[in-house]
Amino acid sequence: MQIQNATDALTLALHLAITADTENQAQKCIEYAEIIAATLTAKQVERCKMAAEMTAMLESWPRVTGKTRAPKQGKIIACPHCMECSRVYHFAWSGLQCSHCETMVDKSQWIVPPKEYQ
Ligand SMILES: [Zn+2]
Repeated sequence: MQIQNATDALTLALHLAITADTENQAQKCIEYAEIIAATLTAKQVERCKMAAEMTAMLESWPRVTGKTRAPKQGKIIACPHCMECSRVYHFAWSGLQCSHCETMVDKSQWIVPPKEYQ
């Protein structure tokens, strides 16, 4: 993720706070987040919180492996860069360009959302 403005910075700080290994690290991230949040509107802060939670959730989901198969109706996979979803009908490729952000993504980097999102 590239940081271009305060909302990006806040989203990243919140994301790091959610995924921090220790309480101490999380607390430091929250301190940074509060400094950045003070420069933003409540609506912007709310949007950053949602984006950070969404990213943390996506990161906890599995990646495409050699065993991933696509059913007849295709399989939804999510780009790890822009979090947008794409539908694929086979996995006979080693990398795929995301149609949303145009990043070339290795097969093993694509996120496989759980069944309820398929
Ligand atoms: Zn993308």
